[in-house]
This record gives sequence, C-alpha cells and structure tokens, in this order.
Amino acid sequence: MEQIIDKTKPILVTGASGYIANWIIKYLLEEGCTVHGTVRDLQNEKSVGPLNKIAESAPKGTLKLFKADLLDEGSFDEAIQGCEVVMHTASPFVVRGFKDAEQALIKPAVEGTRNVLEAANRTDSVKRVVLTSSVAAVFGDNADLKKNPRGIFNEEDWNFSSSLDHQPYSYSKFLAEKEAWKIHDAQSRWRLVTINPSMVGGPALTKYSHSTSIDTLRSLGNGKLWPGVPNMRLGWVDVRDVARAHVEAAFRSDAEGRHIVSNGEPSMLEVASILKQKFGNRYKFPLFELPKFIVKWFGRVMDPSAKPRFIEQNAGHPLKFDNSRSKARLGLQYHPLEQTFVDHFQQLIDDGLIR
Ligand code: NAP
Repeated sequence: MEQIIDKTKPILVTGASGYIANWIIKYLLEEGCTVHGTVRDLQNEKSVGPLNKIAESAPKGTLKLFKADLLDEGSFDEAIQGCEVVMHTASPFVVRGFKDAEQALIKPAVEGTRNVLEAANRTDSVKRVVLTSSVAAVFGDNADLKKNPRGIFNEEDWNFSSSLDHQPYSYSKFLAEKEAWKIHDAQSRWRLVTINPSMVGGPALTKYSHSTSIDTLRSLGNGKLWPGVPNMRLGWVDVRDVARAHVEAAFRSDAEGRHIVSNGEPSMLEVASILKQKFGNRYKFPLFELPKFIVKWFGRVMDPSAKPRFIEQNAGHPLKFDNSRSKARLGLQYHPLEQTFVDHFQQLIDDGLIR
C-alpha cells in the first residue's frame, strides 16, 4: 500500500552518536531534512562533537539534539514531537567487556525498543518506524543453517539458536525485533520497516564509537589476531549502504517488512588478504587460518567472547545471505567490499586508531 511521507517534517534518529546513525544523519541533512537526534549525554563532546561537524558540512538540513536514554520511560517524548518517521538505531553492539548480558544487552535492546515504539504510539504524527535490526535476528549459528532448507538466509528466517548464555548480542537483536513486530501488529497508524544488516564496515565519521564493527576491523591489523584467524565467514556490508537503506526505507512510499542488507560473506583471512594487498607489511595482518580445535580450546586467551560453543557452531561452516529484497525494494547498489575494508582501514589510520 502506498504511504506518502512528508520530507519537510522532522525525523527522529535515536542513538545519533553511533557509527551507523552518523551516516544516516549525514544523508538526511544532505537531503535538506530536519533531524531530531537523541544522545544520552548532551554535554559529552565525544557524542556531540562529530555530529556538529556533520551538520556543519551539510547546511541544507537542520540537526536538533535531544537527551534520551533507552531505559527511561517517556525519554523520547520530546524528540518525537511532529515526526512522521522514527529511525530507531540505538542499541549496544558489544560482544565482550560485560559481566551481565541481561543488563548490558537485553534490557536496553528490548526495553529501549518498547520505550521508543510506545512513544510512537502516543504521537499522532508518526507514520513509519524504521528499525535497525540485524542479520543476528535472522540467524544465530550453524544450528539455524542446518534447519534451513534453502541453505541461504532470507527475510523469512529467524534466529532460534541464540540465548542469554550463547551469543547474547544476537539474542538481544532477535528479542528486540520480535518486540517491535508485536507492538506494530497491535496498532494500525504506523508502518514498521526493518533493516537487517550483517557486520558493518566502512569509514566512521566518529573516532569514539564503541561498536564491535570498529574493533573487528582494527583487530585484523593491530596484531591481536596475528599470526592466525579462525576459519570463519561473516556477512559484511558497507556502512554507507546501510545508511542509504534506512533513508530509502523511510521515504519510499511502498517500503514495508524486513530487509537483509549484506554484500557477501568473506572469511576473516580473505578480509585480511584484501587489507594486506593494499597496506602491505606495515601492519601485522593474520597470515593463515588456525585449526578449529586450537581456536576452540585456546581462542579465549585472545578473545573472551570466543567460547568453545561459539567456535564449534560458527567456524568452518558455510554462510550465505540473500540480499535480493534490499536491491529490489530499496534500490540498493552495494559498494564493493574491497572498497569498504580499504576505506575503513584508511580511516582507522588517519584517526590514529591503528598504528
Ligand atoms: P554504536 O556506534 O555503538 O552505536 C550504538 C548507539 O546506541 C550509540 O549511539 C549509543 O549512544 C546508543 N545507546 C546504547 N545504549 C543506549 C542507551 N541505554 N540509551 C540510549 N542510547 C544508547 O553501534 P552501531 O554499530 O552504530 O550500531 C547501531 C545499531 O545498528 C544497533 O542497533 C546495532 O545492533 C545495529 N547493527 C549494527 C551492526 C554493525 O555491524 N555495526 C550490524 C547490524 C546491526 P551513546 O553514544 O549515548 O552511548
């Protein structure tokens, strides 16, 4: 069904300081839109500074920042006023460095989604919600692949293998998206469109994001994964394509449903080889793939999140995502992944995040 969105109305972007949100806001401002961005702390220069820079370089649009926390009920009520489109990107993307996954991941993801969508329910102007979900809501590990008759994941699939103890970040994204559809289905004013990206790469507009995206690429060049990596494939996509997908999902009159946004599943060694070809021997890129049993039993020395079950279920297995719906329905034209990795690594060097 056609649904016309008025681009002159403000657009709410939650988690404005984030890696992906920065690019969404840049594109919206370049189109001349008014963005209501939320951050947890308006005094935090690390959140607000990069956003002000983005706004300065896109003077056609207007950026207004509001304070909001996912865990505070009613927190988004001010920022959402007058908005037809809500883009809910805020959610922690961390896989290590926490003790309690419920507090660190599940609560902000699920309660946060509920708080934002209940604010949408209270606000008559809202017509559309674009949710930053993830392929983590689609697929958890090889247990899901084994049950998949197509051998490739598409928008009909859900992650049934993650839990609080096993891949809790993926579980948080599964629960948050399910919650969003439940709240959506109980009303009829606003439409829900989800963007389900795989691992996002590409240059950041901030040096300060805690996104696992940044850590993942950095670890391939800072010696942390030298001399070898697990034989593991990840779906990857360029941050600029993910941001473009959000903008298309917001404004296309017929946008609806879920969209896998992913552009290939290179192994970790293949990603490292692309970087090595471009940046040579100045950095300690991994040299080979480690046997699975070594990573399974000793991987946690290098990375506490590499638990034996995680390695067992994720290393040495095939992985494939079907991105055809994102191309057909959002008109996405993906950046080649080589460019994604090279541009990202160059930004890490330029910003002093890798030596
Ligand atoms: P990011 O840079 O860490 O951004 C996360 C944002 O969430 C930050 O702006 C952070 O705000 C906000 N946030 C976290 N806890 C919050 C809370 N309690 N209240 C309010 N805001 C809170 O990560 P990202 O990679 O851009 O991720 C953005 C979204 O994309 C997430 O929903 C993530 O699950 C999803 N995603 C990411 C990837 C990827 O590979 N990067 C892939 C698929 C999906 P503060 O600055 O205030 O901390």
